Amino acid sequence: MNNLLETPIEYLKGVGPARGELLRKELGINKYGDLLHLFPNRYIDRTRYYKVSELINNNAEVQVVGKITNLKTVGEKKTRLVATFTDGTGEMELVWFQGQKWIRENIKINVPYVIFGKASTFNGTFNMAHPELELLSEHEQSLRSAMQPIYPSTEKLSQKGITNKVVNKIMQQLFHETQARFGDVLPPSILTELQLLPKNAALFNIHFPKSPELLARAQFRLKFEELFFIQLQLITKNLIRKHKIKGHIFDKVGNYFTVFYEKHLPFSLTNAQKRVIKEIRHDMGQPAQMNRLLQGDVGSGKTIVALMSMLLALDNGFQACLMAPTEILANQHFLGLSELAQPLGINIKILTGSTKTVDRRIIHEELENGALHIIIGTHALLEDRVQFHNLGLAVIDEQHRFGVEQRSKLWRKNDIPPHVLVMTATPIPRTLAMSLYGDLDISVIDELPPGRKPIQTVHRYDSNRLKVWKFLKDEIAKGRQVYIVYPLIQESETMDYKDLMDGYESIARDFPLPHYSVSIVHGKMKPADKDSEMARFAAGKTNIMVATTVIEVGVNVPNASVMVIESAERFGLSQLHQLRGRVGRGADQSYCIMMTGQKLSNDSKTRLETMCRTNDGFEIAEVDLKLRGPGDIMGTQQSGVLNLQIADIIKDKDILQLARHHAIRLLQDDAPLNKPEHAALRHAFIEMGKKKNIWNYIS
Ligand code: ADP
Ligand code: MG
Repeated sequence: MNNLLETPIEYLKGVGPARGELLRKELGINKYGDLLHLFPNRYIDRTRYYKVSELINNNAEVQVVGKITNLKTVGEKKTRLVATFTDGTGEMELVWFQGQKWIRENIKINVPYVIFGKASTFNGTFNMAHPELELLSEHEQSLRSAMQPIYPSTEKLSQKGITNKVVNKIMQQLFHETQARFGDVLPPSILTELQLLPKNAALFNIHFPKSPELLARAQFRLKFEELFFIQLQLITKNLIRKHKIKGHIFDKVGNYFTVFYEKHLPFSLTNAQKRVIKEIRHDMGQPAQMNRLLQGDVGSGKTIVALMSMLLALDNGFQACLMAPTEILANQHFLGLSELAQPLGINIKILTGSTKTVDRRIIHEELENGALHIIIGTHALLEDRVQFHNLGLAVIDEQHRFGVEQRSKLWRKNDIPPHVLVMTATPIPRTLAMSLYGDLDISVIDELPPGRKPIQTVHRYDSNRLKVWKFLKDEIAKGRQVYIVYPLIQESETMDYKDLMDGYESIARDFPLPHYSVSIVHGKMKPADKDSEMARFAAGKTNIMVATTVIEVGVNVPNASVMVIESAERFGLSQLHQLRGRVGRGADQSYCIMMTGQKLSNDSKTRLETMCRTNDGFEIAEVDLKLRGPGDIMGTQQSGVLNLQIADIIKDKDILQLARHHAIRLLQDDAPLNKPEHAALRHAFIEMGKKKNIWNYIS
């Protein structure tokens, strides 16, 4: 059977070299097996038969059983062939403009036909142009008697006569030649428990559904199997990693952690923070490398989790590092963390591109001899001259800015790699995270610290700018501070800078000294200037911060309570959400105002409405996913990578969860798949692994 499915497609009766070439080029169908897995995009319900008297002028495709009683040619130069069709409840007309000769010679009068097509009224009579025609006697025997599958196609294919009907014929031939025997590989226990259709019946009903119910079951079965295999791969990979990649065992909870927890914790931890710290502690207590993704919405309090994890490393005699994507962020982490760690007597330093040579040399030395406990930094940490005495934990903030290769630079030098904690505020819907990053462990902080007021978000048109400015002045009068953010998209950088500078000038004019003072930060400034502007704003010396998305990640100024986003239609949803997360960090009511012009695309409208409706990062991520598709999530460009044939990660997330559940259970029971009842599964799994494995690219 398997060999048969490897047969080149042109050998299938009715295909041949020319069509074979087309199928290959247009749809990537090389072999019988590929054709078998060419699944229909949609189905037309042909289970229902309409009476002529029931027809409605809605342009829908319908089928009617009846007889042709009369056939005539109408018109002079441009003729058309018109048939009178009746089913006893009424009469309608069938019309042909092309192929009249063939119809005239082949049509049978007063014999029952099934006709199929779009019915519309003209001069009070229903008519159907170029209907599909089939003798009722043949229709009853045909495989495609119920839901009619519509296959993926291309312009070229239909031009060259490979219509849907032809694909359907070829498919029938495939089932005929292969005798439709496709063995089950899923374990019998799962088949029984979930009452899955046998593989045979599923494949048959995907192509030739006997009823809508059987079609649904067939789809479920095939989607489940596809997702089950993916999960099996991911989980196996994770198990292998846990066996193979050794890790330092942090089995002590020592003074640093305990003293900090008991004496210096500035607030009580949320339950989510406690849970996540427990998960991390558990991981780092195992003799395998931790590889954990920590997801938490902006402001959920990831930093304290990072610190406490680092304290555990210190308690076990190791160093720790925290890497941030920008200098501003690294600085902010350094300030915050050294304040928190100060009573513990920890040696903590910062290393960035602008660290002075003298300081740099000391840092390199102390890292190497172990005198430095915690180092905070940017990419500068990845330089070759940076050698750790014994790095036990690497925390990476906002992972998507660092490539996987860059990360691994941190520990190529050591024998045993450090534990890795990747923190991200980009909420990835859990279902997607599971299928994309299934071999990372995931912790989620799904709870904000108490007392936060939800940020009020509004959309305003540029024409209302005066009112918005008035609002800003009122807030500033109450002592609040304001961000005004401009988009900066690389392709149009020069223009964007002009927008930014123009904006800055007019803001400076509208908010004049000495009442107001305005800061500006953007990517073209020197790091030192950026930092001092940020510091002035953070210290409350300026009221307004005009910025590009430099401030998108991480910046924490609790007194800033208004975020104005200019040209908001140009930002993606996750960026808008990140920006909004810069406010709402203090006790005051915070606001996010999204400014746009009048003209908005539908997607832009959806984004703005979503932002106004909810503050929930996960809900926003789901919408984002729907708008953009999984391909764009976190810039991973994985649209083609998942390469799913039938399942849809978003629409079928329930099946995904079910598949994951069963994959985990199966591997708990029999990870090597050695049991006799798992032989077929094992074989299929190994075959799949031989193919180019997409998952290797991801984590
Ligand atoms: P993010 O997850 O965005 O990195 P931070 O770690 O910067 O969030 O925390 C945001 C703010 O919330 C900080 O000012 C921090 O001190 C505060 N915070 C964190 N955890 C708590 C908590 N459990 N209770 C009160 N405030 C907290
Ligand atoms: Mg943060």
